[in-house]
Amino acid sequence: MLLNKGQLTDWLNQLMQAYQVFAPIKEGDYFCFKQINSGDQATLNYTNSKVPPKEVLFPRSEKLFCYRCENDGVQLTEQIDESKKIIVGLRPCDAKSFLLLDGVFKSDKYHDPYYLTRRNNTVLVGLGCNQPASTCFCTSLGGGPFATEGLDLLLVDIGDRYVVEVLTDRGRELLAGMELPAADQEAKETARRVKEGAALSTQVNLEGLKSKLDVIFYDPIWDLIHEKCLGCAACTYTCPTCHCFDIVDEAEGNEGCRIRNWDACMFPLFTLHGSGHNPRPTGKERFRQRVMHKFKYFVDNFNAIACVGCGRCIINCPVNLDIREVLAEIQGSEVRSDKQ
Ligand code: SF4
Ligand code: SF4
Repeated sequence: MLLNKGQLTDWLNQLMQAYQVFAPIKEGDYFCFKQINSGDQATLNYTNSKVPPKEVLFPRSEKLFCYRCENDGVQLTEQIDESKKIIVGLRPCDAKSFLLLDGVFKSDKYHDPYYLTRRNNTVLVGLGCNQPASTCFCTSLGGGPFATEGLDLLLVDIGDRYVVEVLTDRGRELLAGMELPAADQEAKETARRVKEGAALSTQVNLEGLKSKLDVIFYDPIWDLIHEKCLGCAACTYTCPTCHCFDIVDEAEGNEGCRIRNWDACMFPLFTLHGSGHNPRPTGKERFRQRVMHKFKYFVDNFNAIACVGCGRCIINCPVNLDIREVLAEIQGSEVRSDKQ
């Protein structure tokens, strides 16, 4: 189907009558996904958002429930967000990150109603990447600038129009009443050329990486590889697949709320025990944890790498610690006996 760019605002305004619509908007020098209240606020002319759209489904800070202690017991009020949502203009790598997060929040052992309710009520309208950034490496992780995995619709920008690829029934429903024309031969040919031209400059060699990580937990490579890391956690806070959180009670008198906040393995307090012992006492252990979690532990647990190659951790690291170089260094290192 074909959507004229001039129709986008009206379409979003129409969708807003039944859904909360989240789209990339410019805030200062950056783009981020926010709820819009007018279709013209959406800016689809962007490369990638500073913070991934995961915050729509897994907010930086959210109330899980509120409570009030009474004489005859405790009254609980659960705070499940059941509103219907659409995320418009997310990149294919960010759509893939939701598939990875699904494994974390819904498993045999754990079922997270807060994430899962939002997830089930959210439709994803992707936007292909005509010009991937120099930091993108999604194709090394099985993705691609026009990958459709996890999406309901995919928009392909062909100049003054979008070719709309319908991927699910939920996606098709969003177009009800639009009476969009089918993509003609010229539009299909332009879309094909756009896709062909969206080449990535970086490939990361992941072959054999997992087997290597299986045996280098105590390798001296970790003594050096983390050295310039400041422990600021910009990499983890802006990563679409990172999902560590902390839970706190904010209470006053006999009432309060239980709040979930994003946390990060790059912070010393993240693993500090009540006893004062910290099993990850220095930057070395914390940096190793970040790499191991994404490229070994997640593979052990979910049979997938917890990275989609979005490049945010590269762009946002204040000391240019590049995950692609870290992985290349590990790949190039000699495997030693993994003894403490
Ligand atoms: S590790 Fe870096 S490149 Fe991979 S998904 Fe996270 S932010 Fe993106
Ligand atoms: S963004 Fe860079 S400096 Fe900050 S914690 Fe991550 S790797 Fe370390």
